[in-house]
Amino acid sequence: MNTDSSTDFPTRLCVEEAQQRVRELCAARVLPAESIAIDTALNRVLAQDVSVPFDLPPFANSAMDGYALRGVDLPVQGERRFAMVGQILAGATHIPAVGEGECAQIMTGAPIPPGADTVVIKEHVRVDSGAVIIAAGEKAGANIRPPGEDYRRGDLALRIGDRLTAARLGVLASCGLARMNVVRRPHVALFVTGDELVPLGQALGTGQIHDSNRHSLAGLLQDAGAQLRLVAHLRDEPETLRRALHEAGEQCDLILSSGGVSAGEADFLPGLIAQLGRVHFWKVRMRPGMPILCGEIGRALVFALPGNPVSSIATFLVFARPALLALQGANDAQRRNWRARLAAPAVKQQERAEFLRATLECRDDGALWATPVRKQGSHMLRGVAEADALIYLPESVRELEPGTVVDIVPLPGLF
Ligand code: AMP
Ligand code: MG
Repeated sequence: MNTDSSTDFPTRLCVEEAQQRVRELCAARVLPAESIAIDTALNRVLAQDVSVPFDLPPFANSAMDGYALRGVDLPVQGERRFAMVGQILAGATHIPAVGEGECAQIMTGAPIPPGADTVVIKEHVRVDSGAVIIAAGEKAGANIRPPGEDYRRGDLALRIGDRLTAARLGVLASCGLARMNVVRRPHVALFVTGDELVPLGQALGTGQIHDSNRHSLAGLLQDAGAQLRLVAHLRDEPETLRRALHEAGEQCDLILSSGGVSAGEADFLPGLIAQLGRVHFWKVRMRPGMPILCGEIGRALVFALPGNPVSSIATFLVFARPALLALQGANDAQRRNWRARLAAPAVKQQERAEFLRATLECRDDGALWATPVRKQGSHMLRGVAEADALIYLPESVRELEPGTVVDIVPLPGLF
């Protein structure tokens, strides 16, 4: 790590140092909780533990459609006729008791009647003029779901920081819990900078391009649980940038910008962020995305990403996405370490760490294999559009043989 002589913040950190810095910054900034209906809670992060208020299932019930009876009455050989005392549908409130030599027809999920301890599935019985005939070979105690078999009353089902997946919403609903305390979503300002950018629907003039980062970054932000509060295209003009950054620093938890953060004549962001707030680090020894800056303005963390479309996506995935998850206190903020085998040799061009765009396939050996795509330029969206993941080549490696196990960063939505 160096310290720029003209500044007092670290520059040229390695990827791991910069990620560590981001983790430290976010640990102190976890957002407050809010209570929401579980209908709208998919993918939100829990701000409370959840203990199960009663046994699940709450009562003994049948695992199958069949006949409930006493296990001791089952024939050891030959057949036995059982007298049918009634029918129990799921949700039934009138439950007939079952005595010796009797049975009740029962459906999956219906309460086991008093006296019964066994369900014989309907495919195994013959019904003959109101009586039920069962042959030897059935097991006493079969096809009963006892209360508390899934969760016992008091079990800790979910913890603070757990993300509410579809299945976990099902757990909450089974517990009768209609509302939950979840962490508030991060409020984010997205600023795309560059005088060459033209919005969609407007014809391109000389030297102009459409603003693609606004859309790819908005998608990544949404996927990471952010709530976009402000989205704007800003000219490369210091006063415009200053006003927008200051305002966003008062309103938002995080500011994400693209472009204007390198060493070009119109790259005003590093100086402005240092003036308006603080720079935590600028430039990371990685490719693509070296110019990335992390700082703060007002109450907002700032990630100023380089404008090259692939650089902005890679730096988002490596720094901004983990930050957004950490602000939500998510247990999955430190993504599981995904690995794959290299399907082709990889040669690093420079000393800096590299994130190669790659497709993934699961081969017959059960391993994931990663093939770098052909177009690796940081301005080439095709490479990242065709990719499933980024392959991480740390500084310490130069050339890797096919078959080498490498760390990968999956693109959102892959797993
Ligand atoms: P900068 O980081 O501002 O020097 O921009 C680096 C490159 O990324 C230049 O070729 C820009 O034209 C391009 N670029 C910057 N912002 C965007 C954007 N929002 N959409 C597409 N390309 C961009
Ligand atoms: Mg620019």
